Amino acid sequence: MRFNKDLEIERAMVIYAHPDDAEFSVAGTVAKWAKAGVEITYCMVTNGASGSQDPDMTREKLRDMRYAEQREAAKVLGVKHVVFLGYEDGYLYPTLEVRRDVARQVRIHKPDVILAMDPRFRVADEGYINHPDHIAAGEVALRTINPDASTRQMFPELWRDEKLEPHKPKALFLETFGDGGTVVDITDTMATKIKALLLHRSQLGPEAEGFVRDWNKRTGKSAGYKFGESFKVIMIDRPPAAETKPRRRAPPAGAVSKGGARARRAAPRTSRPRAPGADAAKRSAVRGRRSR
Ligand SMILES: [Zn+2]
Repeated sequence: MRFNKDLEIERAMVIYAHPDDAEFSVAGTVAKWAKAGVEITYCMVTNGASGSQDPDMTREKLRDMRYAEQREAAKVLGVKHVVFLGYEDGYLYPTLEVRRDVARQVRIHKPDVILAMDPRFRVADEGYINHPDHIAAGEVALRTINPDASTRQMFPELWRDEKLEPHKPKALFLETFGDGGTVVDITDTMATKIKALLLHRSQLGPEAEGFVRDWNKRTGKSAGYKFGESFKVIMIDRPPAAETKPRRRAPPAGAVSKGGARARRAAPRTSRPRAPGADAAKRSAVRGRRSR
């Protein structure tokens, strides 16, 4: 699928902390891309086992429910692979172990694009403190692009023992919170997104629909679409200067290239700036029904 003149997408990986995060955030884009033939992999870092205030619930029972809900939702969206790394919900740090596990999945599935949450988003004026697991998973998503998944001598056991070659995606799509970005038109997949979202029955009720519709409507409107999801799009190492125009002496045969110039461009702004965090705060209010 051609996203724009610079980006052809065959495979994409969605890296988020909890089962349901992707349905709130990027499911319209996921369904649209899947429909266009993109092979999508979900990489859910935690097990969702903290998402309940019910004293009769157990972590084990909730984990199983949430895995089942996530699998159902992914099926509705056309996601091909769902990977649960199984880290404990609420306890996540971007440790070396998590980084290696995510890098392994990136090397296995070789995504052209990674979709994730921006780890710089921590608090919203409206009274929302971003969940630390979200920040940790976003941090790991960035680290996997550089250096974890892309560098041969990072986690050399992945390459040496598991025969997983380094892989670097072409682009990173960071979910934005109402502060502009590249808007994807999800008008045709909005209904599918809602259907998938509402499958997370342990986390939300039908009231989530109105909020998510409003949110995606506002985002879409800013770009002239009925419904939209917005991203900060970062093209990785563009142009690939390292391969064509080495700036320094060529390294000896077999040496690891450091990657050359990191050409980065600003994400095209196709939507009006709004107060950052407002949508996230509302999203949190919806989730607050249970535990976050
Ligand atoms: Zn979450």
